[in-house]
Amino acid sequence: MSDSAHKEMWENLNLDISAHDGLLEVLGKFYGDIYLSQENRLKGMEYLDFVLSEVHGLRIKEIQDAKASGKKVIGTFCVFVPEELTLAANAIHVGLCSGADAGTDEAEKIVPRNTCALIKSFIGFKLARICPYTESCDLVVGETTCDGKKKAYEAFGKLVPMHVMEVPQTKTADAKQLFKSEVLRYKEALEEMTGVEITVENLRKSIFIVNEKRRALQRLSRLRAADPAPISGRDALLINQVSFYDDPERFTQSINALCDQIEERIAQGDGVVPTGTKRLLLSGCPMAVPNWKLPYVMESSNAVIVGEESCIGSRNMRDLVDESVDTIEGMVDALVDRYMKIDCACFTPNDERMVNVENMAKELHADGVVHYALSFCQPYAHEAIKLQDALSQKGIPMLSVETGYSMEDVEQLKTRVEAFVEMLD
Ligand code: SF4
Ligand code: SF4
Repeated sequence: MSDSAHKEMWENLNLDISAHDGLLEVLGKFYGDIYLSQENRLKGMEYLDFVLSEVHGLRIKEIQDAKASGKKVIGTFCVFVPEELTLAANAIHVGLCSGADAGTDEAEKIVPRNTCALIKSFIGFKLARICPYTESCDLVVGETTCDGKKKAYEAFGKLVPMHVMEVPQTKTADAKQLFKSEVLRYKEALEEMTGVEITVENLRKSIFIVNEKRRALQRLSRLRAADPAPISGRDALLINQVSFYDDPERFTQSINALCDQIEERIAQGDGVVPTGTKRLLLSGCPMAVPNWKLPYVMESSNAVIVGEESCIGSRNMRDLVDESVDTIEGMVDALVDRYMKIDCACFTPNDERMVNVENMAKELHADGVVHYALSFCQPYAHEAIKLQDALSQKGIPMLSVETGYSMEDVEQLKTRVEAFVEMLD
């Protein structure tokens, strides 16, 4: 992880330097144990290792330099916030990761204790002053998805400048109309803040940039259907995580180069695990950096992860925005169409998710599905029950896991995952 070369920048961002040093130390050790210890990794992963080693260093420096030249920085927590509009307004769009326990005691003073770890994490990171991304944001965009988040934004909005988008809970025509008005409201907020008018030209360009990023991630996903698996699930998850804060064009180029290497590897019949290793699809709540616990447990249990049915995975890249329209109104409609296809568990009903998980399991030749719900996450815990039922009717085994960010249950999780993998024989 980054070192004291960036200390002055972190001080200027008002980080708590000693708490931040502690976070980087833990993150570095965790990354070493979970990532750098893997065998037969692709050479292209060196790029991701570098990005992660500089996640609080060079990328933040880049963002600070862009801010100095007049760019604005928008932080988000959800794949419902259209990155295309942010980029069209010449702003930087970053996902605020929220994947680690930090500042939890302080966070529990302003949200209930039985709130999911992701929410407590983004509040804790802010209260503990350890996240340079949060501190770099000119605006944080929340969304009224689950109850936990939308209520937490009332408290979080007192700590950071916020804009909350209303996301409907159903997919009726009226709901779509509501979402369209919210997309337009976000567009106006961006234009007012940046002073940049969103035009046909800049929006067309940004739709293409974000589609290209999604196309690269789709390509990676398709290649993971190969047996032996050409890339570990941990590395693929990392790629999806980095897609939320790296420069989008640089990221796309690097992932396409990595996919070229994967194609060569597949042509040679090479992989990260022996042919026939049990293949698992990971499905459920988003896994933000550095929430690598369950993937590590799964891949230490004689199995390999071949896909992530998640917002840090398929929900973020499965659908593209129509590039053929050439009016602002038409482009906004195309954005609404694309974003309203997201099968988040916050929607009711959300039957398409059941079908999407089944299709992914089949396309990636998964032997079983591990469903992951963060503790206290109602939407995904409910859907775990529905999904188990839907998959069992199709003869696809599923293990349902509920956990948080603490490492206390690693051994217990390992016992359950190993038993599940053995049962797949
Ligand atoms: S799970 Fe739902 S609320 Fe969470 S990031 Fe995904 S779309 Fe947003
Ligand atoms: S994990 Fe569940 S409870 Fe937590 S923010 Fe996402 S949808 Fe809400």
